[in-house]
Amino acid sequence: MLVDSFGRTATDLRVSLTDKCNLRCSYCMPPEGLDWLPKPELLTDDEVVRLVTLGVERLGITEVRYTGGEPLLRRGIADIVRRTAALSPRPQISLTTNGIGLDRLAGPLAEAGLDRVNVSLDTLDREVFRRLAHRDRLDDVLKGLVAAQEAGLDPVKINAVLMRGINDAEAVPLLRFCLDRGYRLRFIEQMPLDAQHGWNRADMVTADEILGLLGEAFTLTPDEPEARGSAPAESFVIDGGPETVGVIGSVTRPFCGTCDRVRITADGQVRNCLFATEESNLRDAMRAGASDDELAGRWLASVRAKRAGHGIDDPSFLQPSRPMSAIGG
Ligand code: SAM
Ligand code: SF4
Repeated sequence: MLVDSFGRTATDLRVSLTDKCNLRCSYCMPPEGLDWLPKPELLTDDEVVRLVTLGVERLGITEVRYTGGEPLLRRGIADIVRRTAALSPRPQISLTTNGIGLDRLAGPLAEAGLDRVNVSLDTLDREVFRRLAHRDRLDDVLKGLVAAQEAGLDPVKINAVLMRGINDAEAVPLLRFCLDRGYRLRFIEQMPLDAQHGWNRADMVTADEILGLLGEAFTLTPDEPEARGSAPAESFVIDGGPETVGVIGSVTRPFCGTCDRVRITADGQVRNCLFATEESNLRDAMRAGASDDELAGRWLASVRAKRAGHGIDDPSFLQPSRPMSAIGG
């Protein structure tokens, strides 16, 4: 098992399938994009599956989430999902996506074994979307959401990041939109993970503010504490239930003490935290002929070195050199 020095066990593996993206969300990357990783540096489909197999069959991983960059840009994604679903014990398989292309891919991915999907949607206003993501693709995202639900990827979850003066007036409309369609909404505090290093604490819309905005239109009561478990979203029952809304206070209400996550980047580096400043290079070890035992040893050593918390509030906090899109959100 992937147990760290504080007794936390990593069971939730997030695998980035590409650092590329077809949007440019301003909290993630600059409008001109980034220098994408050269293809030879990316894990091949077989290498991804080898590491996921090792995690699931030897190291106690029970949930695999594919992410990026935009994971739907990875040509082999359906095959990777199919091979993940064939592992024993079969892990839960989920996907975090901006939704573009899901209208085409939701069916094949569900058929391949995908269990759940999280779609990022920060606004329902086409012009705001274009300003925030620097692409006019809101309609594609909305089509993707419909397709995900039709494909049975239920409940479709939506992630929203609010930015002051840009889309913070949309907390209530976003929640109404989700309630009307049976999507489960979670708001995420903006974290210092943008490539431009433009994050500023004062501009962040905090969990408290989000709850205040929602409280103007809904009565929210905290869900049973056990409903949170190791999931980072604090859950609130809306108007007596049964629907709920999640608020992920990654910065102001850190959940590091119960974190059960570990990450593999698209170029095969194990990261024990989104905010880690060190990585362990499983790709090069694999390409140099490392055995499964050696890879498992390196992976375990990386998890053991995990720090107690992200320390965003610590004066010595250093933003990781890789942005969210390269780490795998
Ligand atoms: N492209 C996919 C997407 O947008 O869902 C997957 C990768 S994206 C990096 C994963 C999640 O991270 C998205 O929900 C996105 O909103 C979130 N995210 C990106 N940058 C963030 C930041 N600086 N703070 C908080 N969340 C962020
Ligand atoms: Fe792309 Fe997701 Fe980053 Fe937006 S948050 S730019 S969709 S990787």
